[in-house]
Amino acid sequence: MKKIIGDMDLSNYKKYFNIKFFFSGFVMIVFYSLVIKGCSEDDPLQENKIEVSQQDTYKFGYNLSNYHVVNDTVRSGDSFGVLLEKHHLFYPKIHHIAEKTKEVFDVRRLRIGKPYTILFSKEAANTPLVFIYQPNKIEYLVVEFCDLISASIERKSIKIIEKESFGFIENTLSETMEDQGLPTQLIYDMSDDIYAWTIDFSRLQKGDNFKVIYNQRFVDDSIYAGIESIKAAFFEHKGESFYAFNYMNKESKNSTDYFDENAKSLRKAFLKAPLQFSRISSRYNLKRRIPLYGNRVRPHKGTDFAAPIGTPILATANGTVIESRRKGGNGNYVKIRHNATYSTQYLHMSKRLVKVGDYVKQGDVIGKVGMTGNTAGPHVCYRFWKNGKQVDPFRQKLPDAKALPSNLKANFEEFIRPLKQQLDSIN
Ligand SMILES: [Zn+2]
Repeated sequence: MKKIIGDMDLSNYKKYFNIKFFFSGFVMIVFYSLVIKGCSEDDPLQENKIEVSQQDTYKFGYNLSNYHVVNDTVRSGDSFGVLLEKHHLFYPKIHHIAEKTKEVFDVRRLRIGKPYTILFSKEAANTPLVFIYQPNKIEYLVVEFCDLISASIERKSIKIIEKESFGFIENTLSETMEDQGLPTQLIYDMSDDIYAWTIDFSRLQKGDNFKVIYNQRFVDDSIYAGIESIKAAFFEHKGESFYAFNYMNKESKNSTDYFDENAKSLRKAFLKAPLQFSRISSRYNLKRRIPLYGNRVRPHKGTDFAAPIGTPILATANGTVIESRRKGGNGNYVKIRHNATYSTQYLHMSKRLVKVGDYVKQGDVIGKVGMTGNTAGPHVCYRFWKNGKQVDPFRQKLPDAKALPSNLKANFEEFIRPLKQQLDSIN
């Protein structure tokens, strides 16, 4: 499932829920690896000449005091070749380096603004020995061109800190979510991944609450680098309890999935809505009357989800795009065939991002909210087709995703017992 965190407008979310968060205890697990590397130029005796604290000296597995170090970021117009040329490496060596690097990293993927470091020989100025590029907070590419050219992707040591949080949902508006210090990603993971198929997040109500146990990543001891995983969660919605346990399911090719306390998958074949944090502005209603049209019955065979123009529209299930065009009152729309029974259609887009024949997965962005065609305001009209007829998706008994195989049940129960106890004791 594509994540679209970067595009989301949080204010949209805050409009609907007021969530208060609290943190309680945490447990630390530390994974550590410190390997000191060096080119053949490394002279152990040199280390004694320079007195720098170890923390500053060792980075990326090198003793930086043995090198002349240049730190910079990739700028507009910097290709891998241009970068190395700037630092005194020329063809054909650049070509050899790029070839060698290809096996671990595509150097065409250097991104503007990302940091890189070049280690130069101290003895022979203008002789670069190592190129280090950091595409993200955790990984870095190391290319050595001392005697032999070698390239590898390394990972910084990551500290995993387990955290527990719980929150109460109130029906007043609030901006407090971020203020509470809860990672935004956690909200998205809860609403778009774990509970996307179970809870309609546009209908949360006062009294709803949740608990969650998750692992956070930190690199270099203190730099927050996102959520590693949500181990278990509990959501009380309209007085009903929803447990979710992240269980590695070997049948699903080593990817994890969330199951309730009875080993039932929380994943559904269809998402509840084609947008995140949307508001239903008009439901499927065959007897709808519109004053504008003389109060005559104008059936509405879709469900309208209001959202700002440009909001990503998500495929609610896996399938193949069978229509992608602009036509009359529908405006720009996309239709996806999921199987012999079900198709879904998404109307009034400002932008279509898929074409006929594309295979899309549940949660993929297929277009952007707009107001093309016959519409008074920005929204997506979501039409749900069953056996060629438009039906109300909220009144369908939609198929569940595959259940956990029965031979794994005993193992599952043993796995969740301590997690459930831990969840139940959070308050
Ligand atoms: Zn509609």
